[in-house]
Order: sequence, then C-alpha cells, then structure tokens
Amino acid sequence: MSKFYITTAIDYPSAPPHIGHVYEKVCADVIARWHRNAGDDVFFSTGTDEHGLKIQRYASKLKQEPQEFVDKMSGEFIGLWEKLNISYDSFIRTTQDGHMEIVRDIFKKIYDKGDIYKDWYEGLYCVDCEAFYAEKDLKDSLCPVHNKKLEEIKEESYFFNMSKYQEKILEHILDNKDFVRPETRRNEIINRIKEGVRNLSVSRSSFNWGIRLPMDEKHIIFVWFDALINYISVLGYPQERFKRYWPADIHLIGKDILWFHAMVWPAILLAADIELPKSIFVHGFINIKGEKISKSKGVTVDPLELINKYGADALRYFLLREIRFGEDGDFSEGAFIKRLNSDLANDLGNFVYRTLTMIEKYFNGHIPAAVIADGRWKQKLDKFSDEVNLHMSNLDFNLALDKIWELINMANKYIEDTKPWNLVKKENIDALQQFICILVDAIRKISHAISPFMPQTAKSILEQIGKDVIRKGKPLFPRIDILKSEN
Ligand SMILES: [Zn+2]
Repeated sequence: MSKFYITTAIDYPSAPPHIGHVYEKVCADVIARWHRNAGDDVFFSTGTDEHGLKIQRYASKLKQEPQEFVDKMSGEFIGLWEKLNISYDSFIRTTQDGHMEIVRDIFKKIYDKGDIYKDWYEGLYCVDCEAFYAEKDLKDSLCPVHNKKLEEIKEESYFFNMSKYQEKILEHILDNKDFVRPETRRNEIINRIKEGVRNLSVSRSSFNWGIRLPMDEKHIIFVWFDALINYISVLGYPQERFKRYWPADIHLIGKDILWFHAMVWPAILLAADIELPKSIFVHGFINIKGEKISKSKGVTVDPLELINKYGADALRYFLLREIRFGEDGDFSEGAFIKRLNSDLANDLGNFVYRTLTMIEKYFNGHIPAAVIADGRWKQKLDKFSDEVNLHMSNLDFNLALDKIWELINMANKYIEDTKPWNLVKKENIDALQQFICILVDAIRKISHAISPFMPQTAKSILEQIGKDVIRKGKPLFPRIDILKSEN
C-alpha cells in the first residue's frame, strides 16, 4: 500500500458552481477512487478559496458580510459535491482558523528568512484574476483572461522575492518530465519562466477581506499566497497528516491557473523549505455547444438540474467519456442524452438486464458453477483489468472507458451469436452454464472497472448479481427521449 494525495484547485465561490467546476471534481474523484480500489492510502482534498476583493464586492452588493456570503456560497459547492458523490476526505475553506494560522506562519517564516520585503507597487490590476498585469501582457489594453478594463492601483506592498527561485524551478521542470502535464502545458510554463520572473506583490492594503500579515496589521495577505497554502494546511502542516501525505502526488488544476501552480507555489514551498509536489496535471476547459461558459451571455448549464434529470453517474460518465483528459471538451444536452441512451441504456443496461433475466429464467436465479474453458473469452477476461489499469495509470480516462465498452459490446454480441434459447432447446446444459459464467465474470469485472466512474451503478450491479436468488430487476438506465430542440 502506498500513500496517494490528490487535490483539486479550491474554487472561488463568487457564484454557484458550474459544469467546469463539476468536471474537475469528477476527474479527481475518479483518480481517488481508482487508487482506493488498488488499496492505496488515499487523501483527496477540495475546498473553497474565500478571501479577496471580488468576494468583498459581491457581498457588499448583496448587503451581506463577506463571511455570511461565503458561508452560503461554499454550502452550495458542498451540496453539489454530495449529489455527485465526490468522495473527498477533507473540504478546506480558507476562512477557517486553522488555515489562516498556517498561512501566517509560512508568511512569517519567509519574511524572517529575508525573502519578503516592503516596497511600493504601481500597476494595472484585474480584480477578477486578483493579479497585476504588465502593459505587454494585455490584449487591446484589457485583461487577457476577462477582456475587462484593469484598475490602476498604487499602494505600499510587501513583495516576495520570487525571481530568486526562477532558475531552480525551471531546472526542476526540465529535469522532471512529469512535474507539469500534459506536454503542451509543460512547454508553456517553461517558455513563460524563460521570459523572466518578476517579484510578486503578496500583500494588499486597499481592502480588508483577507488574512492579516503577522508583522503589519494594515496589510492583508495576497489571496493567491493565501489560497495555495490550502494544499498543506488541509493536512495540518507540519503535523502528522502532513508528514504522512505530503508531497501531493497530483495537483489537478485548470489551464488558467498554471502560472500560480507551476511557478508561484513551488517558489513559496522552496522559500519555506518544503518539498515540491510530485506533479501538476492541467485539464482543459468545457465549452457549451462550442462556446466558452459565460453566465452573462447565457452560455451555461445548471449541473444540479442535470443530476436531478439524468442522475449523477450519467453525468460523470459523459464528462469523462466525451473529453480527452488534458484537452478542451464540449457539453451539449443533446450529445449527453445520446450517450446516455446508446452507451448506458443500450450497451451496459441491456447487457446486465439480459444476463440477469437468463439467470432467472434458465437457472431459477442461481449462478451455475462452471470453469471458463473458452480460450478467446478466458484470455479476454484475464487481460481485461490490466488493460484498463494501464490507461487509468496514464490518466487516459476515455481510453479506459473505450476498453470497458469493448468488453460490454463483445458480451452483447456473444449473447446474440450464441442464441441461448437454442442451447435450451437442444438441452445443451454444459454450454449454457459455460455461457452464463462467462457473462457473469464479465459483469463483475466491468462493475469493478466502472466503479471509479459510476460508483452507484457499479454498486447496484454488484448487489443484483450478488443476491442469493437473482431476479432481473429494473433497467439500470431508462432511455430518454431526445427533444427536437436539443439535436
Ligand atoms: Zn482578469
């Protein structure tokens, strides 16, 4: 048994979670569940990043205290993760006392070392990014991420001597092929670091929703410096749990926050004499019918509504089957329903239903005892788990699912080709027993393989096939009528 620590980015709860948040949590959950199935000692963390000017402004717009606002918003995230069966071990909120204390400790440690100093900052600030931009990085004088006008800010600030760690981090990325994945993101960060790294402003004094500096009450700690530390504060740094699980095996993040994770975070860790994480995996974005998610433009879907309509497992399955991990993907309800009908209701659902029906009909609900002698099937079933696991260990979820569906389709074809009713007619009981045993073994292996993706479905199949007397039961996935408007 080895330890395995996986984190998602912690979400900024200025608005309720959307399908992009869902995608990241589901990916992390699948990895965590797969490692647990393998017997690993897994720790899986997620949470919310609750400080910063944007939160303060949203709250004041609603005439709420920031704490009241984030309490309500983070509740929405937690509620959704529960509906989606996200099996995290700890949900960290950056407004928790324990976290804030650790952030102050780390800040102080780096300050005492001489890597944080006071200076003036003058620059263009994007509130949505919570980041300063240099003139050259703007797109038509606007924030390159948000296409919004930036604010001119001049204030006294504490700076983190990040450039000091530039060479060391670049070297680390070059020496460790898997530190940033996939390759495209690795190249992106290498190029960006080579362009030069400026020192980072790590305090703000123009607003107050944040963690106070330990050595200067007038300033609060920059929200990114605060948020990144969640990855160790959730482990109770530097106590027992930290010692057991750190370094993180995977930080799972979106491509928009690569710089903070592959440059800023390693620099903070090096300055604080803490080991670097093993790898940062960057997933793509989900578009909706080809367009970038935008609430104001109405390009959005409500994940809660999708779960209520189609079930959590169907949504989890669709996101991981349809999208190649590490690349951008597309969501449309029409495509979702098509997959639900073809892959889940037809392929998987029918396979299980037909097999259970035959056990009930031909063997009074008892699985016959037979040794699988069919060479083609024996080989396929013996190799199956290793083949799926190989793709899983490379985080190629869609390829793992392709492999699983290959077996499901092979089993469905086997039922059609064998024509079991003919075996019954000819009273060929040996062949019929053999046939059912192959199908049951396939169902067990498939259930195990899909369990990280569709935990409820896997559990329900295993329960049905594990009964003393097996009955055909209800279909796993009812077919959904596709509305014309969704085509
Ligand atoms: Zn921005």
